Amino acid sequence: MSDIIQLLPDSIANQIAAGEVVQRPASAVKELMENSIDAGATSITLIVKEAGKTLIQVIDNGSGMSETDARMSLERHATSKIRTAEDLFSLKTKGFRGEALASIAAVAQMEMRTRLATDELGTCIVVEGSEVKKQEPIACEQGTSISVKNLFYNIPARRNFLKSNPVELKHIIDEFQRLALAHPDIVFKFIQADELVYDLPAGKLSQRIVAIYGKQYQAQLAACKEDTDLVKVHGYVGKPEFARKTRGEQFLFVNNRFIRSNYLHHAVMSAFENLLPENTFPFYILFIDIDPRHIDVNVHPTKTEVKFDDERAVYAVVRSAVRQAIGSHNLTPAIDFTADVNIISRLSQSGSDVKDAYFDERFSTALRNPNQDHWEKLFEQSKNFGPRTPEPQVLRFESDLNSTPSAETLQPEEKAMFQIHDRYVVRQVKSGLMILDQQYAHERILYEKFLNQLKNKSGESQQDLFPQTVTLSAADFALVLEMEREITALGFRFEVFGKNTIVINGVPANSASAGGKALFEGLIEQFKINQSELSIPLSENLARSLAKRAGIKAGQRLAKEEMKALIDGLFACSTSYYTPDGTPTFFVFELRKIESYFNRQ
Ligand code: ADP
Ligand code: MG
Repeated sequence: MSDIIQLLPDSIANQIAAGEVVQRPASAVKELMENSIDAGATSITLIVKEAGKTLIQVIDNGSGMSETDARMSLERHATSKIRTAEDLFSLKTKGFRGEALASIAAVAQMEMRTRLATDELGTCIVVEGSEVKKQEPIACEQGTSISVKNLFYNIPARRNFLKSNPVELKHIIDEFQRLALAHPDIVFKFIQADELVYDLPAGKLSQRIVAIYGKQYQAQLAACKEDTDLVKVHGYVGKPEFARKTRGEQFLFVNNRFIRSNYLHHAVMSAFENLLPENTFPFYILFIDIDPRHIDVNVHPTKTEVKFDDERAVYAVVRSAVRQAIGSHNLTPAIDFTADVNIISRLSQSGSDVKDAYFDERFSTALRNPNQDHWEKLFEQSKNFGPRTPEPQVLRFESDLNSTPSAETLQPEEKAMFQIHDRYVVRQVKSGLMILDQQYAHERILYEKFLNQLKNKSGESQQDLFPQTVTLSAADFALVLEMEREITALGFRFEVFGKNTIVINGVPANSASAGGKALFEGLIEQFKINQSELSIPLSENLARSLAKRAGIKAGQRLAKEEMKALIDGLFACSTSYYTPDGTPTFFVFELRKIESYFNRQ
């Protein structure tokens, strides 16, 4: 048999390597910006269009490259950063594999302009899918500018696999923020769709944090510092009362490189001990400096993990640094825990047994201590109750998730309907007593409505009498602009009004919420919470988020017509039993069970 093994051509080998290094626009952003940092730049500008899908450009004032180096930089395993295996153990640079530029050049149309300070002319190289199309001398600024156009233009499968612009943009912003936080001494700019999103002057870490997240962060930062022979830790932690429900503002850097570590996250969280409300996360940004000999960075190029040879010691130092920061700033908690407790939803999520037990317990307490006022009202109402069915039909939520309730079972009797505790709507049905949670029921109704609007790209809007301005963080502003079409389909009407500011002129029709501003901010906040916790498509997320924020809340007194509309609306939904995130919207307290309380069975 003849020999069949061949070496792959470079262009294919590069494409394969690119699969590992360049997964999405944000990976290219990270690699290019890291190269600029390694090149000693003091100013770095990132320009993206269409969330990096059509353009990513990084401009720096770093060392630049000679003509030969510019050409060499595009070869695989071509690097100026290490020469021997030993160098791996004393790395001071972000890159060392020499793979990034070769990989990006294999899957995009790339143009590089670069000039050394000592040269008069620079070099321009145009390369497409690893093929050099042009190389010529050019007049340009000192430093390097690399444009990456139409990423994955030659791999349609990868291109189609990219997520929506807001999602890809979020990844880019994450990378940008991490690098900007790790290098407060470098000037960073970020221009997205011709808007200057970030303009960060060089300064101290605290100034950088405030420049990125806004002035309100000034008050919440507590400085952290701890030096030992093995590691040094410095940075800031947020005071507990500023803790958020969303994760995402927790940063660990090892030797200035962003890493993720559940283990060290735990060290920080344990230092906060009981100071945090349940399910919240404090802001923190901690820099861990350690001799590179004690870590292994030679993990996967895109991975953000790191291996320490003495992990437990690092844990202890991090924990102690955070504890001291909390202690020395006397961060006593000013937290209102009760405001956050939503006992019903938590119980119902933990299974029907608990839910039943909870209900039974409440119900029997009510029976033992009948409240005069309530009792009378109930009694009044009961006089109007229709005839009881001797053989009540049993309704099981757990088993018939997908079946629609039979009309007969849920056919409510017109007269017996009322609201209790400003939260539940109670209505007699044939099989017993239906108890509906007004908030969750409305959430389901709105969710289906919004989803439909997003599909049809049309949403009714009602004009706000007093247009309100909303100032957003730069990242949220960019996100909002990216989702303008969708947000309009939900029923909002807004216009850009200066930097990071919009004016809201219209809100979704029939929303029960307080004002346009609160609703809009709630939508974005909830959208981000969902984005960090769930993997769902954009429109699904928007519909869920707005439904959660725009609906009737517990504590709202409802008029008869409103109760009726709620019940009708709920049963007109394609799924009535659950909110989009799985909390029951109603249940039926079966007649049989009621009868058992009176020893009728
Ligand atoms: P690595 O960063 O791992 O060395 P890259 O493929 O990212 O590999 O870059 C290859 C080489 O190109 C770098 O080692 C560096 O010498 C040069 N280079 C890349 N980007 C820049 C830049 N912005 N300024 C100066 N030199 C650069
Ligand atoms: Mg690199």
